[in-house]
Amino acid sequence: MKINVIGGGPAGLYFAILMKRADKAHQIKIYERNGPDDTFGWGVVFSGKTLANLRNADDVSHAEITKEFEAWDNVDVVHRDAKISIHGNSFSGIARLQLLKILQRRAEQLGVEIDFHTEIHDLESLRSDCDLLLAADGVNSTVRLRYAEQFQPRLDVRANRYIWYGTHQLFHGLTLTFRENSAGVFAAHSYKFSPTTSTFIVECDPQTWAKAGFEQMSSEQTLDYVGEVFTQDLNGHRLLSNNSKWINFLLVKNGNWFFENVELIGDALHTAHFSIGSGTKLAMEDAIALAESFQPTTSVSDALTHFEKTRRPVIEDYQAAAFESMRWFENAAQYMNLSPVELAYVLMTRSGRVSYEDLKRRDPEFIRRL
Ligand SMILES: Cc1cc2nc3c(=O)[nH]c(=O)nc-3n(C[C@H](O)[C@H](O)[C@H](O)COP(=O)(O)OP(=O)(O)OC[C@H]3O[C@@H](n4cnc5c(N)ncnc54)[C@H](O)[C@@H]3O)c2cc1C
Repeated sequence: MKINVIGGGPAGLYFAILMKRADKAHQIKIYERNGPDDTFGWGVVFSGKTLANLRNADDVSHAEITKEFEAWDNVDVVHRDAKISIHGNSFSGIARLQLLKILQRRAEQLGVEIDFHTEIHDLESLRSDCDLLLAADGVNSTVRLRYAEQFQPRLDVRANRYIWYGTHQLFHGLTLTFRENSAGVFAAHSYKFSPTTSTFIVECDPQTWAKAGFEQMSSEQTLDYVGEVFTQDLNGHRLLSNNSKWINFLLVKNGNWFFENVELIGDALHTAHFSIGSGTKLAMEDAIALAESFQPTTSVSDALTHFEKTRRPVIEDYQAAAFESMRWFENAAQYMNLSPVELAYVLMTRSGRVSYEDLKRRDPEFIRRL
């Protein structure tokens, strides 16, 4: 089979790896507009369950990924200068760049061709030249836009703003920190992803954003302002920018997942709010499910139909949980009157997927305090 892939992110790379593993004869080419060492952002998170899925799908890249991991089992909630730890949650973090390097190496070892610094504009000629065109081109997918009539995308730009920084302050565990000033409430989502660096994502509602005056601020002034809000938490470390800018979260859904020989995957197909840390997980598990759909058949149409039929309910379930979580952070200001331990409980149960009983099992000491 001849497969063209647009986008060398986790979804495109991992699908190429799994297809090539299944059949060496597949001709697979990935087109990626960036270079092999360019990336945005800092670290990504996986749960213990996702790691087991990655091990079953490709033990070689799994071994590399887990060698580089920072693992933890606690969620920490910081509110009114008190830190509440909830244990029994298995997560790991890795730098996005490191993950991409591992996947690039593995793909190339298996014989996948990767054309870096190649931005695709002419979609029709690429799609007529292959059996399958995989659109793994991320949240602002060109393919989804070009074939909007076929995919019927539903895009929802959310009101909250967030900015993705790094810091050398090490947060051991997923740390959710709330700070208030005269502009309003700021929430930071932070976690260590290497021995020296943590991701530090800051989110606020539109009223707080406007009142703080970010519209008039330069990138440097924004970084200083946000650093000042979280000064107690950063312990003297500066925030690190990677061309970091305020963004509105874009919720992506599609009425149709494929047409003829074109398939959407990963962020191009669906997004889930970063507060449940599942974008990369979903992208890579999409790749697993799509590659599995090709196992019993050589018919592209049958495989794509099977993928949508089996994967759509899983994605809808995740998006529903992520939606609840996103709404919680959009309304975070209304929870600031809670005590730290109450806030921690409400946060842990916000998506409706973790119950009181689950928490009692995971961390009886936390429930006793509550
Ligand atoms: C603030 C924030 C925090 C996040 N935190 C987490 C987290 O903790 N855990 C987690 O798992 N996920 C997280 N994510 C999500 C994660 O980054 C994405 O969900 C994941 O990378 C999706 O993978 P993908 O392969 O679908 O898309 P991407 O990683 O976006 O890859 C798409 C690729 O396509 C390329 N491309 C696009 N258009 C073209 C074109 N026309 N021609 C050639 N190449 C093109 C791009 O350069 C890019 O490399 C976070 C996201 C954000 C914004």
